[in-house]
Amino acid sequence: MQPQIILLKEGTEASQGRSQIISNINACQAIVDCVRTTLGPRGMDKLMVEAQGKATISNDGATIMKLLDVVHPAAKTLVDIAKSQDAEVGDGTTSVVILAGEFLKQMKPFVEEGVHSQIIIRGVRKATQLAVQFINEIAVKPKKDDEVELRQLLEKCAATAMGSKLINQQKDFFSRMVVDAVMMLDELLPLNMIGIKKVPGGALEDTLLVAGVAFKKTFSYAGFEMQPKQYTSPKIALLNIELELKAERDNAEIRLENVEEYQKVVDAEWTILYDKLEKLHLSGAKVVLSKLPIGDVATQYFADRDMFCAGRVPEEDLKRTMKACGGSILTTVADLGDSVLGTCEHFEEKQIGGDRFNIFTGCPQAKTCTIIIRGGAEQFMEETERSLHDAIMIVRRAKKNDAVVAGGGAIEMELSKHLRDISRTIAGKEQMLISAIARALEVIPRQLCDNAGFDSTNILNKLRQKHAQGNRWMGVDILNEDVADNMEKCVWEPSLVKINALSAASEATCLILSVDETIKNPKSGEGPAPQGRPGARRPF
Ligand code: ADP
Ligand code: MG
Repeated sequence: MQPQIILLKEGTEASQGRSQIISNINACQAIVDCVRTTLGPRGMDKLMVEAQGKATISNDGATIMKLLDVVHPAAKTLVDIAKSQDAEVGDGTTSVVILAGEFLKQMKPFVEEGVHSQIIIRGVRKATQLAVQFINEIAVKPKKDDEVELRQLLEKCAATAMGSKLINQQKDFFSRMVVDAVMMLDELLPLNMIGIKKVPGGALEDTLLVAGVAFKKTFSYAGFEMQPKQYTSPKIALLNIELELKAERDNAEIRLENVEEYQKVVDAEWTILYDKLEKLHLSGAKVVLSKLPIGDVATQYFADRDMFCAGRVPEEDLKRTMKACGGSILTTVADLGDSVLGTCEHFEEKQIGGDRFNIFTGCPQAKTCTIIIRGGAEQFMEETERSLHDAIMIVRRAKKNDAVVAGGGAIEMELSKHLRDISRTIAGKEQMLISAIARALEVIPRQLCDNAGFDSTNILNKLRQKHAQGNRWMGVDILNEDVADNMEKCVWEPSLVKINALSAASEATCLILSVDETIKNPKSGEGPAPQGRPGARRPF
């Protein structure tokens, strides 16, 4: 008898071969089934409850995937592509997961029949490459220098991105706002220069766009009411200094012998504080913001001298103010020149809903804006924020790269037809593989129909016929349970969203197909698995 060679630690689980690929594909399918129903304007939302009991309602693929807490190693790939799609283009997160799932589903029979993974992978890569090329060929590019046309294009892309969300009733209102917001930014379109704040109460339409920085009024001490609440062209001091009496005492250990010494310490404290306050006053700053608390003495001092102050400003807001208004965040008041002070055209403290807001407009340095979302429930506003984020990302993308394609399954059907046509000209196994990918692409229009309660077979037959006749932009008409020219209907999406989704889905497919063995080390500290020999092969 041959001696058994033990290679791996006791308790290690390993499984390999074709059955392993199939089991990974099945796991991915299970994940896809979770998000399938959220696709499109008639998609449903998911309510997810985390371990701590926090409930989230969302339609956004990336958010759902993040909250699912997937443990299966292969299925995690799908979570990753949803996340990367979110980071890269912002929209199309559900589509990418569904596409990857369908690619895998179509490839499963080939794996079962024993086609080598590498051949399948080559086929998938080739099909993707052809599809991406074709998108670039047929994408429509409106004239960029025409302001009106560009704006229309951006608004339509934003409206399509929001069409599938909770806020689709107000999508015209919001798409205008999102385009305004992105237009306010400078060339680089930095996302973090659009602040989003939420104030409970009011209607969704009360949501407003502030052309500048806005943040909630911070905690304030007595004397605050006497401070002016409006300035034109004030100088702004941004500090990282605590303006409170106890501040100095906290920083040192002091040993005292008698009362006089204590009095000296107290006096010194007042002197130090007054010294700082005086310097701030003399610098000509009218608005003083600090990341750290500003106490009651300081508040009253400023009030007496016609100055405004706010302590405990969140770091993120302070940074945005700095970027917008100029100046720098100071840790000392020793040298308060004009170069370190910011400024803006107008400062105001204003009531919005139940909260007071500090609003800086006409900022000279960077272009920035803030969207203040109003609405009923907390979860509703959170979903609104996520939807706006998608739309903002899409508008940024579309502004940089303005080619668009028609959505609602139109581009997928056209790609499907294109790939099917090409596959017929290829001899060999690739023919089958490319036509399988062509079939897989139909999943998007089919799912859009299924989610809307339409007869998907019927509509897909119609779509295939129309595309065969050369009607390039025919897609699902969600309003009339029919097919329609979605380019005319203005269901537009940046071509980049589709290209990115296709490439990510195909990469994920190839990755999962190329894994034929999983080896799982036992957790450290855990004994050997209760059953099974060392190195025993068990499927997960
Ligand atoms: P994703 O997270 O992938 O963006 P969505 O739930 O936003 O998922 O759905 C996007 C899909 O819905 C896209 O295929 C898009 O073309 C389609 N879609 C959006 N608006 C419409 C519309 N008005 N009519 C038909 N299809 C639409
Ligand atoms: Mg979307």
